[in-house]
Amino acid sequence: MAGKFGKCMPFCCARKFSNSQQEKDMANESYEDAIAGLTNLLREKADLGSVAAAKIKQITAELEAAGSKGFNPVERIKSGFVHFKTEKFEKGPDLYGELAKGQSPKFLVFACSDSRVCPSHILNFQPGEAFMVRNIANMVPPYDQTKYSGVGAAVEYAVLHLKVENIVVIGHSRCGGIKGLMSIPDDGTTSSDFIEQWVKICSTAKSKVKTECNSLTFEEQCYTCEKESVNVSLGNLLTYPFVREAVVKNTLALKGAHYDFVKGSFELWDLDFNIIPSVVA
Ligand SMILES: [Zn+2]
Repeated sequence: MAGKFGKCMPFCCARKFSNSQQEKDMANESYEDAIAGLTNLLREKADLGSVAAAKIKQITAELEAAGSKGFNPVERIKSGFVHFKTEKFEKGPDLYGELAKGQSPKFLVFACSDSRVCPSHILNFQPGEAFMVRNIANMVPPYDQTKYSGVGAAVEYAVLHLKVENIVVIGHSRCGGIKGLMSIPDDGTTSSDFIEQWVKICSTAKSKVKTECNSLTFEEQCYTCEKESVNVSLGNLLTYPFVREAVVKNTLALKGAHYDFVKGSFELWDLDFNIIPSVVA
């Protein structure tokens, strides 16, 4: 089975995995190609604005720095997959055999895209246990078929087709998205293409914290907002008719959570916002 699985991987089908020197050459080539491309762009587009030119220079410098450190993304991906295949996949034929037939996760999880808060890592979710949506600041937007169809499709699939029994929205400490939300000026002006518009989904959490916690420091306000925005997301989940229906029928529970990676703690609470004792000290 493992051999068959291996053949299915595009990486395995390509020649890269069979020759490490070739891989290194290819990785180096990709860096060199990127740097050469950016350099040409700088040369050709002399009329580029100074900001754009500065940005390209910065990216070029970063690419060069990454190349000089010898980080090889292909090698990293290869070693990661080989580890998974030998330590997990080949040692768990029963689990992976079942998962090949289908999935029936108990959880739909909303988590931040932040690289430090992967739910599979911090909650030890195994493959098949949790259907997952990750985005900036783990937000659930209200029901909107055009603006937020990506999130809506995930919620609809999880609730109506997979029939998950729990939706958990997990906030976290030192969330850059929440800090961004809390930093939006009172007049609402934004300077990013997408980020601020997205995090404004939880602007009611920001208003509540600014009003009720104005004696706290900015960092403390952000920490409070990380939890309040989870509550806003839980409320937004109820704007989806199929979520509301399942909650009323008691086949679906909504839970809020906050993972603090500074203290190493995890709080979990129900939709009624009664915070229960931490499940992890
Ligand atoms: Zn975050």
